[in-house]
Amino acid sequence: MNGFFCATEVEPLKIPDTKIDEILEQTDIYQLIDEVVPLKKAGNSFKGLCPFHTEKTPSFNVHPDKGYFHCFGCGEGGNSISFVMKYHNFAFPDAVRFLGERCGVTIEYDQNASQDAKDIVALHDELTIDSRKFLYSQEGKTALNYLYKRSFTDKLLEEFLVGYFPANVDTSKYVRKYDKSVLINSGLFKEGKYGLRLMFYDRVMIPVKGVTGKTIAFSGRTISDQQPKYINSPETEVFKKRRVLYNMDKAKQFLRKSEFAMVVEGYFDVMRLSEYGFGNCVASMGTSLTSEHISLLRRYTGDIYMLFDGDQAGYNSALKSLETFLMTDTFPYVVFLPEGEDPDSFLAKHGKDGFEQMLGEKKDLFLFAAEALLKKSKDFNAKLRSLDKIKNLLVSVKSPYRKDHYAAKLSAMYQVDENTLRKDIDISAAKTTLRRTEYSAQNGKTGNRSMTYFCERDFVAALVQLPEDVSLMMTENILPEYFNDRKMSEIYKKVLEVLENGDNINVLLSTPDIAKELSPVLVSDLNSDLYRTAAASREKILANSIRESMNRKIKDTSDMGEKRRLLIEKFRVKKQSQEKTEPED
Ligand SMILES: [Zn+2]
Repeated sequence: MNGFFCATEVEPLKIPDTKIDEILEQTDIYQLIDEVVPLKKAGNSFKGLCPFHTEKTPSFNVHPDKGYFHCFGCGEGGNSISFVMKYHNFAFPDAVRFLGERCGVTIEYDQNASQDAKDIVALHDELTIDSRKFLYSQEGKTALNYLYKRSFTDKLLEEFLVGYFPANVDTSKYVRKYDKSVLINSGLFKEGKYGLRLMFYDRVMIPVKGVTGKTIAFSGRTISDQQPKYINSPETEVFKKRRVLYNMDKAKQFLRKSEFAMVVEGYFDVMRLSEYGFGNCVASMGTSLTSEHISLLRRYTGDIYMLFDGDQAGYNSALKSLETFLMTDTFPYVVFLPEGEDPDSFLAKHGKDGFEQMLGEKKDLFLFAAEALLKKSKDFNAKLRSLDKIKNLLVSVKSPYRKDHYAAKLSAMYQVDENTLRKDIDISAAKTTLRRTEYSAQNGKTGNRSMTYFCERDFVAALVQLPEDVSLMMTENILPEYFNDRKMSEIYKKVLEVLENGDNINVLLSTPDIAKELSPVLVSDLNSDLYRTAAASREKILANSIRESMNRKIKDTSDMGEKRRLLIEKFRVKKQSQEKTEPED
């Protein structure tokens, strides 16, 4: 594997879907995993000690005929590609290339697609240069003054290639030079009354680069009262905002030296901090941090610091991010600016030293969340409920040392006996494992909430295995909003996208997060009648959504007669759905 690894979060050369299928078919998942985890035969499958969590008895299963692995201990799972991504910490294209080399499948790139991708990058470069010219032209005067007023120097603007596009840029130059499909697919041009026009109109332009330094998108900031304040390029072949962090291309050199990455809120924050010598800063593109962002950061650095505003909105964003971090088993620090300050104003007042001092007051996000919950708990009962919530999160923490550390902190914080808390955590962990095993043994009869989750999961897992046309039919009238489980709803949304675009489902199934969620069903022998599973779970999801929308209506109506009518309707629907599903259970 020497010299093989090359990290690219943007893949300008698209690997053809058929190659991915071929590689998955040619790869023996048993051999692949057995090389790093010794496996023993157990019935139709193979078992071994899980490489993703510490265990003494094997709960890691590999099903060569199905092409999937799944661990009943920690819940990790997926296909060969996601195994390589997870085990070797590879990005998707690198994992595919790795497996391709291994089984002797040569990847011929889709020439048309890759030419288009190259042209799109070239177009971005040209637009960057042109926007720089506009900024320093007569038309760019107001924009430049705006930037000067915010104390951006020419040097800093050049370093980050900040430019400007006035209203109504003449596009004929680009139309002559590039294929129309390239201009449209770049997402930067729109068809207007008088031909193609640029989507950015009287805005300061901030070029966004991928990890490798190629410009793949723009963010345009208004200098007038135009709304919204920022407009970003739409998602394209080369730009997926879920995976792109602003300034990652520059930050990665600093990250190798510095021990942590700093995630801030805005592009201008990144520029300002870099001016003060903090080159290790990145920003997400108007979304909250995704698991893809986190694994990108983790490829380059050990610790992640999240910088937030020191107000309620900042606290809430911090708390909201906890779940994504736990999902990826990552434990960041949070740093809050004093209320009313942004990095810009803070640095102006306190300088680099003051900023470093503030970083020193970082808090562990998990403990910050525990503290925030405790603060909200007004009495003993509320405190116990909060402790229960945070304890359930602690159960999923993989490192035993970290778990110990948090248990000690929590018991002090909540003033409960440490041993009792530890026992409680062990019991909860055992319950979780038991629930998983139970499910695999009897296809799930475990409490109300979990049943809904299992049903939604079965539905999605069936969709990805059935022939595309059947799946597409099954998804009719089922909206992602009907799902109770948020994560499953997200996955369903992605599956829908793939089905509707005619894309390759195997690509989606190789995404570690998704593979992990669906793998317990994909390896199970119980769902052999996929069509029936899909149809039955579809009915249940529909019934759930009807019941919920009725509940909402019943709650919202103040007309007693209407309320009665709705209640009767609700009971009727409930009876019907019981009649439908009961004989099967
Ligand atoms: Zn495991």
